[in-house]
Amino acid sequence: MYDVIILGSGPAGLTAGIYTVRAGHKTLLIAGSSWGGQLMFTTLVENYPGFPEGIQGPQLIMNMRKQAERLGVDFLNTDFTQADFSSYPFKITTEGKIYEGKSVIIATGADSIWLNVPGELQLRGKGVSTCATCDAFFFRGKNVVVVGGGDSAMEEALVLAQVAKSVTIIHRRDKFRASRAMQDRVFTNAKIKVVWNKTVTKYLGTERVTGIVLTDTKTGKEKVFETDGVFVAIGHKPNSDKLKGIALDAKGYVVRKEEKDTHDLLKYYCATSVKGVFVGGDVHDYRYRQAVVAAGFGCMAALDADKWLQEKK
Ligand code: NAP
Repeated sequence: MYDVIILGSGPAGLTAGIYTVRAGHKTLLIAGSSWGGQLMFTTLVENYPGFPEGIQGPQLIMNMRKQAERLGVDFLNTDFTQADFSSYPFKITTEGKIYEGKSVIIATGADSIWLNVPGELQLRGKGVSTCATCDAFFFRGKNVVVVGGGDSAMEEALVLAQVAKSVTIIHRRDKFRASRAMQDRVFTNAKIKVVWNKTVTKYLGTERVTGIVLTDTKTGKEKVFETDGVFVAIGHKPNSDKLKGIALDAKGYVVRKEEKDTHDLLKYYCATSVKGVFVGGDVHDYRYRQAVVAAGFGCMAALDADKWLQEKK
């Protein structure tokens, strides 16, 4: 029986572990077989405070894990197959074993959806990205493309237009699905152009991306488009498939449910639909999606879990 079981080993989960174990709670962190979250697929991180020269994403995660381990968090490098919140204590099943927790922090994150076309995996972090806020800085004065037609794609294009020489949005239809306001901002930005009815079917380049192959969705004709960077903005998928008995929204994000005390003051910011289960990071935060924000949410979820456990005692 653990006081706290943390699901997920990105910045939210690891920060939560550092806090719960320091508050004296026996903590198990189920890290997953491919642990570490999205930062394991990034290269230089320059916007995480405390590293004047920047730090490689995997190194940052490794440091956080070492810190949590040194403080006494138990780690399990396997995947859980189900987290059941319908009875108490909460039950987390891994292959062949069930772990019980008095409280649970869900920090399973979200994954960017990728195009899954040849060259993409090899060129991730080498000019191919899913986060303009993180990487736009590396494309000062360069020509970049953004793939997608929703609000995320508009936002990525606008962020990139502040530093890049030119931004081309590639969309598979002849209409955006983004909100009118975001579309207006894109259409009135002189640096942003749009290429309609095209999909990216291949990435070009070895050391870095040098271009993409565009296929016309109407004629099937292919052409090479040279570019210094590609930002894929076709959506995100929260990792919530294995959570049972907890409220999710229509897109699968865990619903955060603030709780107030009898004086109407905020009591638990990171509460969920189940008492004793808290959430932190990208599995509920579809808005900011930054490592530093996820770490902050992990801390908040841990402080909430600590308060809840103390009250329960
Ligand atoms: P989204 O609304 O689902 O849009 C995804 C876009 O990617 C669509 O235009 C879609 O094309 C395109 N797409 C999907 N799969 C593709 C593929 N395999 N190849 C090429 N294109 C593909 O996702 P989102 O933009 O990430 O937004 C998610 C939610 O967050 C939305 O509710 C959005 O309003 C919200 N959001 C809001 C803001 C804001 O208000 N500032 C910012 C970001 C996100 P089709 O249009 O043809 O389907």
